[in-house]
Amino acid sequence: MKIDRDFVSGNIEVLNINGDVVTVERELRDTQEGYDWFYWAFRVTGAAGKTVTFQFPHKNRVGYWGAAVSTDLYSWEWTGGRKLWTAEDGTHYESFSYTFGPEEQEVYFAHSMVYTPDRFEGFCAKNGLKIEELCLSNKGRSVPMVRVGAGEKRILLSSRHHCCESTGTYVMESVLQSLIDAPLEGYEIVCVPFVDYDGVVDGDQGKHRDPHDHNRDYPLDGSPSIYNTCAAIRKFADAHPLVCAFDFHSPKHCGDINDKVHIPYSYESEAPRLDRFSEIFQSKITPDAIAYDRTNNWPAGLGWNKTTNATFIRYVINRPSHPFSFTLETPYFGEADGSVVVNRNTMYAFGQCFAAALRDFLKETER
Ligand SMILES: [Zn+2]
Repeated sequence: MKIDRDFVSGNIEVLNINGDVVTVERELRDTQEGYDWFYWAFRVTGAAGKTVTFQFPHKNRVGYWGAAVSTDLYSWEWTGGRKLWTAEDGTHYESFSYTFGPEEQEVYFAHSMVYTPDRFEGFCAKNGLKIEELCLSNKGRSVPMVRVGAGEKRILLSSRHHCCESTGTYVMESVLQSLIDAPLEGYEIVCVPFVDYDGVVDGDQGKHRDPHDHNRDYPLDGSPSIYNTCAAIRKFADAHPLVCAFDFHSPKHCGDINDKVHIPYSYESEAPRLDRFSEIFQSKITPDAIAYDRTNNWPAGLGWNKTTNATFIRYVINRPSHPFSFTLETPYFGEADGSVVVNRNTMYAFGQCFAAALRDFLKETER
């Protein structure tokens, strides 16, 4: 059995292999000291026919439904069942087990359902979208962006300001699909799916990256960004007035508010239009989608949501066009009791609900 991370989005440290029990841990890499984060993704080869348990020597590593599992880095399912194991000191940590099929030579496991640039390229090919280059990343990679529709009015969709936050990209993809299938008349949709593109490719955590992460790279005092993509987005937003900007994120690992879809208010003054959108959004949620209750929206200034944080949303909101803009947080797993399960289908349905709400909201505000 071989375990590696030498693929797009890979992240793992193998601590020990003891028969069919493997101890692994995520790599923090350049995460600022004092922050624990939880993203991992690894590949197992040569385990066909075996049942293997993978355990982590730390809490907050495995979600409610076990690991996300895939044989092609594209289609992800849950292994089912987070399990606990007891360390020598009596502490309970998390693990999952997997029985490899007799023909399963190469299997990927991850903290959550990974969304790679390959998947986005496939999405674009299927929809006949031309991928443009936003800029070169700090590591010299071509950062993709796409435009859909034509018009004077402009909506910006983005995800992966924090590179591990893949549920945001699944939802964003579904929103984009809806806007391709039924275009918004008079609008151009501009999409930057991987803001921390290097982090997505390399499999970093991205959150609390040292010295600051991509969603803290929009200084309110106007000083330059340190990441090329953030600088390019600022330049774009300055040159092209936006009507809306939506930034799709995932929250922390799980528990409490992190199990629920929520929208943090960037400023209290944004409450009137955000409240109205949230009301419409909640009314559009279908039974096949991830649940959304607007009372879970997160107040400006509460806890981590400091109004002085130099986020992308605060940057665009402060442009002269004062676009309707917010961050949408989509959980990695759902509710522990199983009443909400995040997977490819529920994320897709959820994105369709978001797009339906957006259509109604724009119609209403244009009246
Ligand atoms: Zn985030």
